[in-house]
Amino acid sequence: MYVEVVFNIPLNRTLTYKKPKEITDSLIGVRVMAPIRGRSLKGIVIAEKEHLDATYKVLPLQKRIDLEPICGEAEFELAKWISRYYHTSFGEALFASLPAGTPSKTDKKIKPINIKQKPYLELNDEQADILSKIIKTIDNNEKSRFLIHGVTGSGKTEVYMRAIKHVVDLGKQAIVILPEISLTPQTIKRFAERFEGRIAILHSKLSPNQKYRYWQMIRKGDIQIVVGARSAIFSPTKNLGIIIVDEEHETSYKSSETPRYHARQIAFYRAEKEHVTLILGSATPSVETFYHAQNSENTHLELLSLNKRATSINMPDVNIIDMKHAKRSDIFPMMSEALIEAMHNCLDKKEQIILFLNRKGYANTVTCSHCHIVKACPNCSVSLTFHKSRNIIMCHYCGYTQFIEENCSECNIGHFQRLGTGTEKVEEQLRVIFPNANISRVDQESVKTNKSYEAFFNDFSDHKIDILIGTQMIAKGLDFPNVTLVGVLLADTSLHIPDFRSEERTFSLLTQVAGRSGRGDKKGSVYIQTYSPNHYAIEYAKNHDYISFYNREIEKRKELSYPPFSRLVRLVIRGEDEAKVESDTNLIFDLLTMITYKSRNDLSILGPAPCMISKLKKYYRWNIIVKTKSHKLLNEFFEELSTKFSTQKGNYIEIDIDPISMI
Ligand code: ADP
Ligand code: ZN
Repeated sequence: MYVEVVFNIPLNRTLTYKKPKEITDSLIGVRVMAPIRGRSLKGIVIAEKEHLDATYKVLPLQKRIDLEPICGEAEFELAKWISRYYHTSFGEALFASLPAGTPSKTDKKIKPINIKQKPYLELNDEQADILSKIIKTIDNNEKSRFLIHGVTGSGKTEVYMRAIKHVVDLGKQAIVILPEISLTPQTIKRFAERFEGRIAILHSKLSPNQKYRYWQMIRKGDIQIVVGARSAIFSPTKNLGIIIVDEEHETSYKSSETPRYHARQIAFYRAEKEHVTLILGSATPSVETFYHAQNSENTHLELLSLNKRATSINMPDVNIIDMKHAKRSDIFPMMSEALIEAMHNCLDKKEQIILFLNRKGYANTVTCSHCHIVKACPNCSVSLTFHKSRNIIMCHYCGYTQFIEENCSECNIGHFQRLGTGTEKVEEQLRVIFPNANISRVDQESVKTNKSYEAFFNDFSDHKIDILIGTQMIAKGLDFPNVTLVGVLLADTSLHIPDFRSEERTFSLLTQVAGRSGRGDKKGSVYIQTYSPNHYAIEYAKNHDYISFYNREIEKRKELSYPPFSRLVRLVIRGEDEAKVESDTNLIFDLLTMITYKSRNDLSILGPAPCMISKLKKYYRWNIIVKTKSHKLLNEFFEELSTKFSTQKGNYIEIDIDPISMI
């Protein structure tokens, strides 16, 4: 007997090996170790056969990893589709969709989380209305896709849980995808309280082997509900009834490694293929998704809206502070007097505050007082950030760290000065301004060095913390009813990035952060400090006005023919030799130009140019962005690329279909 094996490498075919005689059961779907080019590599058996097609030398398998299969026909089919859509090898696609862990005897059994079951809340009219629409399509077994556009705190999660219950009661399974940062202890508890014993919550704290164990339980149908981040969309359910993609606009749903898949795209594919209900939810849907919901006669994506908060009286008041003219604190000019006063008022009322700044560390640039050079990363084309608590400067892209020299290493005269403000400095300055308040900082660093994310949450929930300052990590998903003030220290950080989606990201981030305020029965307020007070992304965020924002944004997309009016493909060519990278990029550009010429411009090309981060982890990077409406042309290009082109030694091409990161 022989087996066909695929590997996690860019090789678009299977390799044949001898199946050991002592193995009598089928190896299809089983991971094995097999020799390849003098190495031993992990592979997956995707077929068995009795005879060889021709006579050639075949090596035996080296080792069997799984006792029972971890995948089968359904996973193979999905991987095939992914490899076609995202232009990767089948093996890479298959590996990306499987858990990395292995069965282990020492691994502890997964204990059910012992939590008392909570009754369901009584839904309000808006919620009840959309739930009944969803349930109707489930009962009629109709193909159905919904976008729930609901303001922050409108009770989307309650609706999801009811829909899940309905599906589970019918004996089917449910998959819920959440952004990693939304997998807070709070969210986990909320789901566990409703579905204890039948649910797998796949958060990042689980070991690979625990994830593997859950994977097998899901495959066998022992688990009805899977809640997890991006990769949970691959859960091997047997009898799926519903897929929910919460915060569907989240950029973290796009993988940044090959295959660069988007979990929402996979969700659409699975929903279609497995004939199940799909629900997308967001307070700030991506422009593409909302456009599809507006054109439901073609897309069959039905829009459902939740316009008011489930608990509190009103959405919070949003105040825009124009930092060009505002009176600032003498102690800490990064903060306006208005925000400080609002904070004092809030603390007086024994209510809590969240402050948001999307910059880690203490100071984001370090320059010499004499020659003015900026300390840059030796591996990447970015400046280094100063972290005071560890007294180092570090690169946030590759992790490079060093101590600051006494004197400037370039001119040997000046000293290094720290410019710009990160969360660490904000924390320090707040302690001066509010000496009696309990202040905590939550970002990747403090979570590593101080205490766990969970501990921060519990402390904040128990009101042991008055002011929480943090980055992205606290911008979304938190639901603390005693928080009545949210401050955004600098709304402009994401606004001026040269990316056609930067306005969308800014609007969405501000809306999400603002949505943390006034979630209980106390009215909330929000202060947004900015140098661009009249920018439409900020003005519409002030009024919680998604629709106007969308209308403005979709006009721009149409005019410039950006998605949803075209599809983008980004090619990044990288290598350690810059000249070679540039010459390969130019060759690919020529190939594309020929296709454009033949097609009379149905395909347009942006670039070639160095990437925004032109050097990353020692690799020089150039990119070309292709914009087209024609799948046919794209396929033609990829066909030419794979048959007529091969990179110079040491160069790599990253193919990104529907890219969302342009850096
Ligand atoms: P979203 O997911 O839209 O942000 P959530 O589902 O988290 O909203 O609901 C926000 C808050 O309102 C939560 O504390 C939730 O328990 C509460 N809530 C939701 N629906 C109801 C309801 N029908 N009655 C009372 N409280 C509700
Ligand atoms: Zn670096």
